[in-house]
Amino acid sequence: MKILYDKKKCIRCGLCTSLRSDVFVLSGDDIEIIKKVGGQTGEKVDEKLINDLRMIEAGCPVEAIKIVE
Ligand code: SF4
Repeated sequence: MKILYDKKKCIRCGLCTSLRSDVFVLSGDDIEIIKKVGGQTGEKVDEKLINDLRMIEAGCPVEAIKIVE
């Protein structure tokens, strides 16, 4: 599972960084993704993290965040 971030769409509203500051960090003019989601072969998936990421994906006002399998 991967987090895709579209820098061109992002308006830096702060939703993702406020909900999961352990994953999304404002770095200069961009959002930096500082944590891997996991879910690759044999890796444990953090269900709470996945739920939060789905919420951020749905809540991002410009659809700059995509969570892909
Ligand atoms: S929620 Fe979307 S628009 Fe807001 S800072 Fe995060 S990526 Fe950018």
